[in-house]
Amino acid sequence: MDLNPTVGLCAQCAHARVIPHPRGGDPYYRCGRSDFDPRFAKYPRLPVKVCPGYEAAPPPGDGPSPE
Ligand code: SF4
Repeated sequence: MDLNPTVGLCAQCAHARVIPHPRGGDPYYRCGRSDFDPRFAKYPRLPVKVCPGYEAAPPPGDGPSPE
């Protein structure tokens, strides 16, 4: 797996939501699991190297096709 070394697992996690930086800096990664599981930080400290909640995101273009 080829991870962004400054982000770690969140870069390819199905639960990560990428929030653009308001002034054009590096984006924030919000953990979607934090919405229902208090073990996870809303904005995890990066890079995340080990995470029990990590689930690989499906590859781009692998979702349902538009109608
Ligand atoms: S579950 Fe873990 S790897 Fe996935 S977004 Fe949350 S903190 Fe990152």
